[in-house]
Order: sequence, then C-alpha cells, then structure tokens
Amino acid sequence: MNATAVQQHEVLVLGAGYAGLSAAIQLAARTRKRGNLRVTLVSPYDTFTERLRLHMTATGQETTEMNVPELLDGTGAAFVRGWVTAVDTEAKTVRIDDDRILRYDTLVYGLGSVADTAAVPGADDHAYTLNSPEDATLLADRLARPGGGTVVVGGAGLTGIEAAAEIAERHPKLQVVLLGRQEPGASLHPKAKTHLDAALVRLGVQVRGGVEVVKVLPDSVELADGSSIPAAAVLWTSGTRVSPLARAAGLTVDERGRVVTDSALRSVSHPDVYAVGDAAAIPQGYGVMHGTCQGGMPTGVHAALAILRVLAGKEPKPFRFGYYHTPVSLGRGDAVVQFTRPDDSPRRIVLTGKRAARYKETVSAAPWATFARMKKMPASGALWPHGGRYTRIRSAK
Ligand SMILES: Cc1cc2nc3c(=O)[nH]c(=O)nc-3n(C[C@H](O)[C@H](O)[C@H](O)COP(=O)(O)OP(=O)(O)OC[C@H]3O[C@@H](n4cnc5c(N)ncnc54)[C@H](O)[C@@H]3O)c2cc1C
Repeated sequence: MNATAVQQHEVLVLGAGYAGLSAAIQLAARTRKRGNLRVTLVSPYDTFTERLRLHMTATGQETTEMNVPELLDGTGAAFVRGWVTAVDTEAKTVRIDDDRILRYDTLVYGLGSVADTAAVPGADDHAYTLNSPEDATLLADRLARPGGGTVVVGGAGLTGIEAAAEIAERHPKLQVVLLGRQEPGASLHPKAKTHLDAALVRLGVQVRGGVEVVKVLPDSVELADGSSIPAAAVLWTSGTRVSPLARAAGLTVDERGRVVTDSALRSVSHPDVYAVGDAAAIPQGYGVMHGTCQGGMPTGVHAALAILRVLAGKEPKPFRFGYYHTPVSLGRGDAVVQFTRPDDSPRRIVLTGKRAARYKETVSAAPWATFARMKKMPASGALWPHGGRYTRIRSAK
C-alpha cells in the first residue's frame, strides 16, 4: 500500500435515494480534484428509484430510467452495487450481501424508510407495497389481470391518497377502497381538503376514515369493529419503518429506529456517522423532522458540507430546514398543492387542478435535474428554506 492510499479519507454513503445521492454528488463534486478523499456510494440498484413515482409504476406507467453510475461518472466517486447487511461501528466497516467488506472513515447513513407492514398481522405476507420498484411492479402485474374486484388501500396518508387516486384512474373497473384512522387530507387546509375529497369522489374511490385495520388476509382485511372487507388486492402504505441495521450497529436510535443526530446531522453516539433523509431523526425548532424528499435532499447536501468542514478542522454548521409545500397527485391531470409554514402546518395558499398537477410533476422531476446540476455546480444544491424562527433551537449555542 503506498503513502497516498494510507492518507486517503474514505467516505462511504449507504443508500442512493434522494438523500444519499445528494450527499454523494455534493461531496464528490466538491472534492473531485483532491486525491485525499474518496467517496463510495452503495446501492442495490444501478438505476435511481424515484419513490415519488412508485404509485405510477404500480399502475403500469413507464417512468424514465436514470443511471446512477453514469451520473457519478467524472466525479471520482465509486459505485458499489449491493445490499448492506451489517455496519460495524468499532471496525468502521460495512458488509455487503456478497460478503464484501467496505471500510470507512466517515459513514453517511441514508437507507430511507418503507411502509410499516409489520404493524398489522398479515400485511407482510399478503399486502402489496410501494417499497421498491420490484414491489410496485408486482402490484402493477396484479392490477393488470382481467376481472374486477376491490383494491383496498390501507393507510390514508399522502402515499395512500396518491396510490388510491392513481389506481382508480388507471383501472376504472376496480373498486378502490381507501382506509385510514383519519380522513384523507386531515392535516390540510379546508380549501385543499375540499378539493381532495371531491377528486376522490370523482374517481370513485370509496373513503372510510376512522377505521383501524387489524388483520390482512389473502382475500380480505379485518377491521377493529369486527367487520371485514373483501379484497382482490391490498396495498399497504401506512406508517414507516426503517432498516434495523442502525440499531443493530449500536447507533443511538429513536423509538422508530431512526438514527438520532445532533444539529449537524452527526449520530449523537458515533460522530463519524452522519444520518440523512428518512433514516434520520433530526432535531429542529418545531420538533423532529418527518421524512420527505423536500427535506431529505438538503440533509444529504448539508452532511457533505459538514464532513468537509470537519476535515478542514472547522465546526460543522447546524442544519436548519423549513417545509414549504405538500404536493399530492390525484391521478395524472389533477393534484392539490398545500403550501405550508416551515413547521409543515398549512397556510391558506393552495393550488388545485391542472396547475397543481403541473407543479407536482415539476417537483417529481426536479431531483434528477438537481443532481446533474450539482455535479457541475455543487453550490446550486445548497439552497433551501432555512425556516427562520421555526427551526431555531433555543437551547443551542
Ligand atoms: C408514492 C410516494 C410519493 C411520495 N411523494 C412525495 C412528495 O411529493 N414529496 C416529498 O417530499 N416526499 C414524497 N414521498 C416521500 C419520499 O419519497 C421520501 O421521503 C424520500 O424518498 C426519502 O429519501 P431517502 O433518500 O431518505 O430514502 P429513499 O429515497 O427511500 O432511499 C433510500 C435508499 O436506500 C436503499 N436501501 C435501503 N436499505 C438498504 C440496504 N440495506 N442496503 C443498500 N441500500 C438500501 C433503498 O433501496 C433506497 O434506494 C413520497 C413517497 C412515496 C412512496
């Protein structure tokens, strides 16, 4: 091993989702001329998974393939295709499913989240999910089979709403039933909720709020009141679950298994590990961030900048992020966009209809264009709303 290799600082980024890819591109683009830092991105797929469009994949719609190694080309970052099976924070290594061991000096943990199918008996075995392109394709194949029947969507959060609307629009012969503890769009401004309700009626989606699914069976779901709903297929979108790897590695995690970070996105127990996106529990003035793409990408960029500051012997800056919108697609030609305060509470400003659909499409298409721009101009990715007084943590120095 030569002297240069010994001095090289290895940054390993786990997960090429919105947050992990933001971190890898930002870091690689800023350091491509340096010989002393190497970025390696680990992902099970060569192609970027546009989670924002998985409800489209689930209804048989083609989406553009985006190649991650091609995006990294020219940045000096390495790409390792594989599924992470273990993190050893003592040895500072990561194990991949083909038993390769990757060493790191700094780790960026961006393994995202999935729907919580463990929360209800039978969901893991019998429900479809939008957790990955393969899962979404399985549902598309099922929905494409001839014959009618009922599709139950479990979970009336934003993913459930988008999926129910998409399925109803693409498969009008199927009856779509959307189930949730709350009414769909309960957190939106009444103007936005009224539009959303009308769109679901127009699409023929049967909404049942205030219900609790207690069991998923191969051909039905059981509710807490003892009734059951026959189902040709069940799509589970409720709750979020993160990879168990962080907890198993001894990183401090919250009750949901997310890596608890300090204000600079470093693990509070292992400062050489940064956590980004849905996999991280990140404190803000308004509370702990919840997983979104709009917040996930800035966490990746900020982690990259923090790593570079630490390597330069400086204190990393605190991460501050304020939400600004909640865009919800309602099929291809309709949507509702709720503009929000930095703490994600709804403002009165709402977009609906075709203009909202165009807005949502712009939002969904933006990440890949942002990565490509960041590759050439890293500073272009470092702009996001900081949330003013909403994100200030009073006890922070
Ligand atoms: C249908 C749908 C619509 C949505 N719409 C919006 C929206 O309009 N706006 C918005 O802000 N958010 C939206 N979201 C939420 C958004 O997609 C997530 O918050 C976002 O993907 C989080 O980014 P991330 O990088 O943390 O995780 P992800 O994008 O999920 O990326 C994590 C990556 O880690 C990989 N991974 C996981 N485990 C391992 C492992 N063991 N080894 C290797 N790799 C692994 C996964 O394959 C994945 O590619 C939507 C989600 C869905 C499902």
